[in-house]
Amino acid sequence: MRLIKDYTLPELKEDFKRLGWPGYRAGQVFHWIYKKGGREFAEMDNLPKALLQVLTGNYKLNSFSNAREFISQDGSRKYLLKLADGNQVESVFIPAGVRKTLCVSTQVGCKFSCGMCASGLKSYVRNLTVAEIIDQLLYVQRQAPAKITNIVFMGMGEPLENYENVTKAIRIINSEEGPEIAARRITISTAGYLPGIKKLIDFDLQTNLSLSLHATIDKQRARIMPINKKYPLKEVLKTCSDYFQHTGRIITLEYILLKGVNDTLIDAQRLAAITHGLKGKVNLLPFNPVPELPYQPVKKAGREQFAAWLKSRKVPVTIRKSRGADIFAACGQLAANNSGQRSQDSGESSVERKSQEIQDSGV
Ligand code: SF4
Repeated sequence: MRLIKDYTLPELKEDFKRLGWPGYRAGQVFHWIYKKGGREFAEMDNLPKALLQVLTGNYKLNSFSNAREFISQDGSRKYLLKLADGNQVESVFIPAGVRKTLCVSTQVGCKFSCGMCASGLKSYVRNLTVAEIIDQLLYVQRQAPAKITNIVFMGMGEPLENYENVTKAIRIINSEEGPEIAARRITISTAGYLPGIKKLIDFDLQTNLSLSLHATIDKQRARIMPINKKYPLKEVLKTCSDYFQHTGRIITLEYILLKGVNDTLIDAQRLAAITHGLKGKVNLLPFNPVPELPYQPVKKAGREQFAAWLKSRKVPVTIRKSRGADIFAACGQLAANNSGQRSQDSGESSVERKSQEIQDSGV
């Protein structure tokens, strides 16, 4: 049995024809799933009984078997989602003013072992399917207190290594018949997976690209991000430049400041040169501590100094605040291991963590 959310509308129409049903019925099912938030085929009360039987006999509607929710003091919410095969992934809802962002996972585990990321501590298991990617959005949307406006593919896994499923999920999420989130509100983040960046040049939707840079020369970057040994900086930056030339879309360079590793004036000068070369912009991120990882964060004053060095060189730069660190939901902390209940010193006043089991049904 296939998951029905693996299908685009044209694909589902074709499948319905094969099963002896007209294409417009597929449109009705799509409407139930994506516009009315249908959780069971039985709810779809404008469909003939015979079609409901065909649906239950041929397709599965939901890809998670259960979920847990962890709510941060700052309003972020982490969802630990159990897939049908028992594997788990995490998604994070991050409200910030009018912007309500969902951070989505794309793989179970990750192959790339980036030094500042808890997801890299989990061995790679498999790619998520299209339905598993979309279900993160549909599920969290039902639980979240406000409408999701933006999606970032920055959760567990390297999105561009799961290129086909990620881009197909984006097509459905972006489509008029689907959740209809504008492509310009969707960001794909990559650790520098060169074959994926090359493919993305020809992706016809106006999604954003963000490169996890974190270091400005090969020797330094390869230590933090082993992927750099396979895809060196020069080649990645050349491909990013091609991407910009071809698409006209500005690339964001993500830069996590690590104490004593990449936080000097020389680092800032090299980062400025790279950013100007790409006509990009910089997101400066604090390092969110993970007990198993060796790095330490740069203090607020140090982050501001680094940003000032960049600004003095006319680099567009944003200093991002850490969100959801008290429930291990912040950038680099996702590890799908009930970590919302682990204790840590987030540097903020202590909070009482709240978690709740969410019923199995209708996930
Ligand atoms: S930063 Fe991305 S690519 Fe690197 S280990 Fe984490 S999830 Fe994997």
